[in-house]
Amino acid sequence: MEANKAIFLDKDGTLIPNIPYNVNPDLISLNKGVLEGLEILSKLGYLFIIISNQAGIAKGYFEEEDLIEVEQKIKQLFDQKGIHLSGFYYCPHLETGSVPRYAVTCNCRKPNPDLILAAAKEHHIDLTKSWMIGDILDDVEAGKAAGCRSILIDNGNENEWCVNGNLNRVPNWIAPNFLEASLYISHHYKLKEDEQGTFEYSQEI
Ligand SMILES: [Mg+2]
Ligand SMILES: [Zn+2]
Repeated sequence: MEANKAIFLDKDGTLIPNIPYNVNPDLISLNKGVLEGLEILSKLGYLFIIISNQAGIAKGYFEEEDLIEVEQKIKQLFDQKGIHLSGFYYCPHLETGSVPRYAVTCNCRKPNPDLILAAAKEHHIDLTKSWMIGDILDDVEAGKAAGCRSILIDNGNENEWCVNGNLNRVPNWIAPNFLEASLYISHHYKLKEDEQGTFEYSQEI
């Protein structure tokens, strides 16, 4: 069986407007251009998997169970264009959190790559053929540390730009929004003309 390839997606700020610690599904909407970008990427054969830090759990602002409705709402929004969300992975931890069982040092909080590695294992994903898209350098680092290429959406949410000589924090590309990030990925594919004269994306260059 051939391995899958995936787009690992940061949630807050990347897919949806960043409303800190929000778990109310009624307040969740997709950023402009996200559905259009996902459609392009879907035609290229990628799986979509959310990789999210959810420190609000460790801080006691909400419960893990509250994320079920968040995931459902995002699935619903994706479904408007027939886009399937294959996975939703989150880190509930934060060292300085107030809920003891979550206030631990972990390997799954981005910039650590462990959530991506776990998702890759579960979904049989070739990380070298996959991408991480996020809006801060911790997303970029997690993606590259896992062996993917990473795109930073520079929408103002990264304001420290702290690289410190760590090449994993240098994005493969910086895009102004999700649609442009998706187009950048599509530019890595050859277009092939079929017998009807229709152009289709073929293999990655
Ligand atoms: Mg974000
Ligand atoms: Zn964690």
